[in-house]
This record gives sequence, C-alpha cells and structure tokens, in this order.
Amino acid sequence: MTVRVRFAPSPTGYLHVGGGRTALYNWLFARHHGGVFVLRADDTDIERSTPEFQVDILESLEWLGIDWDEGIVVGGPHGTYRQTDRTARYRAVAADLVASGAAYYDGATPEQLEQIRVAAEAAETSPVYDGRYRLSAEEAAARLAAGNPPPVRLAVPRPGETRFVDVVRGEIVFGHDNVDDFVILRSDGTPIYHLASTVDDVDYGITHVIRGEDILPSTPKHILITQAMGAPCPQYAHLSLLNGPDGKKLSKRHGDTAIRAYRDAGYLPAAVRNFLAILGWSPGTDEEIVSLETMIARFELGAVSRNPAVFDLAKLEWMNGQYLRAMSAQEFSDLALPLVETDLGRELTADERGTVIAMAPLIQERAKRLTEVAPQVRFLLNDEVTIEPGSWDKVMTTAEAPIALAGAGAALEALAVWSVDAIEAALRGMLAAAGLSAGKGLQPVRVAITGSAVSPPLFESLAALGRERSLARLAAAAARLA
Ligand code: GLU
Repeated sequence: MTVRVRFAPSPTGYLHVGGGRTALYNWLFARHHGGVFVLRADDTDIERSTPEFQVDILESLEWLGIDWDEGIVVGGPHGTYRQTDRTARYRAVAADLVASGAAYYDGATPEQLEQIRVAAEAAETSPVYDGRYRLSAEEAAARLAAGNPPPVRLAVPRPGETRFVDVVRGEIVFGHDNVDDFVILRSDGTPIYHLASTVDDVDYGITHVIRGEDILPSTPKHILITQAMGAPCPQYAHLSLLNGPDGKKLSKRHGDTAIRAYRDAGYLPAAVRNFLAILGWSPGTDEEIVSLETMIARFELGAVSRNPAVFDLAKLEWMNGQYLRAMSAQEFSDLALPLVETDLGRELTADERGTVIAMAPLIQERAKRLTEVAPQVRFLLNDEVTIEPGSWDKVMTTAEAPIALAGAGAALEALAVWSVDAIEAALRGMLAAAGLSAGKGLQPVRVAITGSAVSPPLFESLAALGRERSLARLAAAAARLA
C-alpha cells in the first residue's frame, strides 16, 4: 500500500502556525514512508475564501520547504483538487447514496426542526434529527420536478455507534444518539463540508487523515459517509491543538499566529520547521535541533503526543539564533543584505556592501532574528546618525556622560592609526584616566556613535565608521548635552 496523505486548508485565512505543523506532519509522514503528499483546496466557503489567502498558503508552505506531489498548482490524476470544481461529483455521490438508501431527501420544515430542538431542551436531551420527516420517493420526485429540490440527509443507523482507533488518541466511540441525520447536500445543490471532504478523501485514495483535533467531532460523520460509499476508511490521526504559554488555545493574544509573520520577522524557515516539528513530536534524540534528514527518518505518528503542545516564542527565538549561528558568514550576509537595502530604501554601494559584510559576523554571533541586522548597521550607512530617544534618555542623563564623550573625543583624535586595537586601547586609557566603569564610560560613546544602546561591538563599530564621522558624532552629542 502506498501511503497517501493530504493537507486540506480552507483559504479563509493566512496559514496558521498550527496549520503549518499539520502540513509538516503530513509531509514528514509521506516522506518517511515514500508516500504521496496531496495539497487540496477546501474552498467551499465561497464568502470567506479569497485568492490572497490561497496564495499565502502556497507561499508559506514553500517557504517552510514543504512540497507536494499532487494537488493544486502541480495537478495530478484527480483534476484541479479544488472543491469548488467538484460540485457535480458531490451531487452525483449524494444521488447514489439516496439510490442505495444510505441517504434520503428530507422534508422537515424549519418549524418542525425547531419543535424538535425545543422538545429536546425540555427533556434535557440532545436535539437529534432522526429522519422522521423524510420524503417518500414520490414526494421527492414531485419536488424535484417542481424545481424545489429538498436537501439530502444521511440516514444515520440507529441505534448504533461509530468506533475507530485514532493513531494519536487511541480508541474513540461516538454513540449515534448524539449524531443527527445530517444534511450532506443543501436544497440549492451545494455540498456540506463533510460530504465534500469525505468524497475527496475517498476519490483521492487517502490512506491517512492527519489533521487538527478541532475536526474530531466531525469524524464519525466522515466515517459514516465513507462506509455509505462502500469505501475503506482511512486511518485517522487527530493532532492536539497548540496552546499559548498560559495554557489557553493559541490566539493572536499570544503573538503572531500566521506563518508569514515569522517570515517577515526574520525567522529562518529551517528554524520554524524544526520548532513546529517538535511541537508535540519527539524524534527521540537528546538534541532539540533536528536535521530534516533525521526528522524524515524518525517521524512516526505513534510518537506524536496527545497532550496540547505549548507554542513558546522564547524557544523559537532561541532556536532561530542557533540556526543563525550555524550558517556561514556568507550565507548570513547574503540573507541580511536585502533586508538592509529594504530598510535603507535604496541599493547599497559596493563600499557599503563591504562594510555591512564585514560587520555582519559580529551581529550573527548574538542575533535571534535576521531583522536585527538592518537597524544595527544603519549608523554606518548615513552621514548623520538618528539617536533613539529611549537610548539617549537612559544613557546621556548621567553625570558621567559629558566626561566620557569629551574624554573619548580627545583620546580618539590623538590616534595615529584608526584600527580596532588602537581604538580599544585609547578608550580603555580614557576610562582609566577618568575613573569610569566600562558601562558608564562606554555606553554614552555607543549611543553617540550608533544611535542606540544596542549595537554591534563598540570598537569595531568605531573602526568601521571611520575617524571623521566618529569624531563628528562624539562632538555633536557633547554639544547637544552642553
Ligand atoms: N478544511 C479543513 C480545515 O481547514 C480541513 C480539515 C481536514 O483536514 O479534514 O480545517
């Protein structure tokens, strides 16, 4: 048997980090088993689906390095893999199910359904519709002929239950006294999601349905439709949802939830992929940094946790830093340079590129995100420096600041050679002479030179900026203080 899995996002929002993890687990499972990963578009919610979201989902998957073997864009033996292109197929299945007696045309009016709901409430039971107003073949034919088609409902066997073994969650049983004879095709001929999803899974030969736990309550419906179609049921694996560090379901309150936000914030795809992979799955290694090869070699659904995983941003930042440091200096600056140009609003000159490339490894040693580079090299790329008000207020209001600025200016002006070592020696001499600690004595210099209390290492920054601009900035800051 060839493993065939699918990721079936609805293009009603940006790809969520939870969706990214679901896609990744499907992909890892397929790659581990040499199977097929299908990407389909569950776009039946026409009001909320947009092309922009669809494009975002594709771009986010590509950014994460998740490719698909069949499905939207790449095609395959099953058409376009878009549900909106398959309405005729869903109608045909509904008609087949009516013909076989597994489904029926229903005549319940909204008032009758409301009565069932009210009666159930009074009896403190669930308002389950059991098909009591199903239409006879003649009544249904008459309504179809009159252009007033009734909805189609699945006849849920009663009494009865649906039982299955979820690969992640174990044995699951749903008693049918809580399952409606649910609508599969509306009177306007559009399919209900459960029908579209199940028909797709059957038609595309899906062997394992790996998806979020939010869909678990719908799974008995999908199994009932699959059985009614006379098809074998796939194995189901429902993944726990992601929580924030406070134990509540991950939402915007906890930070960004869209994959694209992490791309834009300077995270590396490999780091995000690694982070998502171990959110609820352990490769059984001591290390949390796991190569893609190891993930593929070791991925197993049985090792996926059924407990909710915690999306811990601090851990993602740490992990991203690890990936940044594992890169070569060249890879790092290749990724950082375009961001610097965007920040600057223009292309870098050849000299400026050289300056940034020389400075980049010093930032790479500490950075958590790629987007930290541009603000830290800005001071090198303009004649004037813009000083962050917060940094100025924090550092320049001390009694030591004017002494440090004047002392640094004098010590540096006297230098014959403008090098990192000479600058360091001059400034350390200034600290000793003035009796200043490095913190009190060098922070004002840093803010005057780089505009910020957070910068690349100071001596290297001065060396890169050059004598003339450095002295001018020290003088300007001193004048502003005086
Ligand atoms: N379109 C559904 C969603 O986005 C997919 C559920 C499934 O995988 O069956 O939640």
